[in-house]
Amino acid sequence: MRLAILGLASAGLADAFTPSLHAPSLPTARSHASLGLSTAPSALKIRPTGRSARSSAVPMQMGLSARHAGALAAVVPRTLASQNPVTVAAGLAAVLVGVLYVLLKIPSRAYKDGEGTVGKEYDAWTEEGLLEYYWGEHIHLGYYDEDDRKAVMNPLKSSKVFKDTKYKFIEEMYKWSGADKPAKVLDVGCGIGGTSRYLANKLGDDSTVTGITLSPKQVERATALAKERDLNNVDFRVMDALKMEFEDNTFDLVWACESGEHMPDKRKYIEEMSRVLKPGGTLVVATWCQKEGDITPSEQKDLNFLYEEWAHPYFVSYEEYGRLMKGTGKMEQVREENWVKETITAWRHSIWVGVWDPWIVIWKGLTTRAGPMLWWKTIREIVTLNRMHKAFESGLMTYGMITAKKTA
Ligand code: SAH
Repeated sequence: MRLAILGLASAGLADAFTPSLHAPSLPTARSHASLGLSTAPSALKIRPTGRSARSSAVPMQMGLSARHAGALAAVVPRTLASQNPVTVAAGLAAVLVGVLYVLLKIPSRAYKDGEGTVGKEYDAWTEEGLLEYYWGEHIHLGYYDEDDRKAVMNPLKSSKVFKDTKYKFIEEMYKWSGADKPAKVLDVGCGIGGTSRYLANKLGDDSTVTGITLSPKQVERATALAKERDLNNVDFRVMDALKMEFEDNTFDLVWACESGEHMPDKRKYIEEMSRVLKPGGTLVVATWCQKEGDITPSEQKDLNFLYEEWAHPYFVSYEEYGRLMKGTGKMEQVREENWVKETITAWRHSIWVGVWDPWIVIWKGLTTRAGPMLWWKTIREIVTLNRMHKAFESGLMTYGMITAKKTA
């Protein structure tokens, strides 16, 4: 393997891999240990300049001295030249697959405490525009019935159904919460405000909806979309859900859809939402959870990847969210459910919508500043979406729905 990588390096192909090795958010020491890699992040950070330095970067990283690397770099091209071209091509292809396999197993967007990683990731996603193009105004999983599942493989219906299932999800979540015409609604972790606007429209002028997020770009986009729709009873603010500026007992409904995943302190998250809720009001949370109980080392490895790819500090079980609600001493009628059956189709569906309509990714990779790195990022997203699917399918992850009323 080392020799083969060296072959790539001396053939000048190492450049193809260097952007990934130098990706700004390098894997943490924990991910390296958990993945059993011996290459330290510092080794991956070597940033040589110039062609000869670049072609010696890989052997240096593999622990060879510059003299050895020089000697090998001279020998390897000659050795390659004496081989059957088919063998060389097959070898290079195998190496390429191997390198991609290793790189795709290293998570690249870890949550870092105190560094604003969540807000920055959502700012970047909002500016890039791909998430909105494919997912529409909602950044959460959809709610599927049998017909929706069948539509995934139909290129003519797939994209519309993908977006429609998200509206279905919030309708089901609203019904399940038992909320009754709330006058003041708080959407905690509102994304670009799809749900806030939907509820503002549904509840009408007698109600107001406030959405909060850590991402200024999301607030900007959410506000622009509300203006476009002439919605005057909705507003958006940059605010941390763990330190909300609202008074106690302010809202009739506190809604949190797929924001708990990003919270570094789940207890504080539940306590804050319970605090700002009015007595008699409803709290409803939908969030990706991990299973309750013992986690094997191999499951932990899978979880670590899922934590670190999209800025998640960690997950807890939905049973734990239920206990946290009861633990506030303010909440009653706590109910919990696992909606994995209703939502799991969304993971692979989100891959299929890209397969049916890949042009925007290809185009943006060619014409924007993101360049072809966008294609690499898209491949990473596909891998992560599929790993999410597998974790939910195996029961390692669950889709937690938790609701409660504040004691009157
Ligand atoms: N609920 C939205 C978006 C889900 S994406 C929807 O259904 O479309 C997760 C959202 O949670 C993002 O908007 C992110 O900024 C927000 N979020 C994560 N941590 C947060 C925190 N500590 N305070 C406020 N918002 C947070």
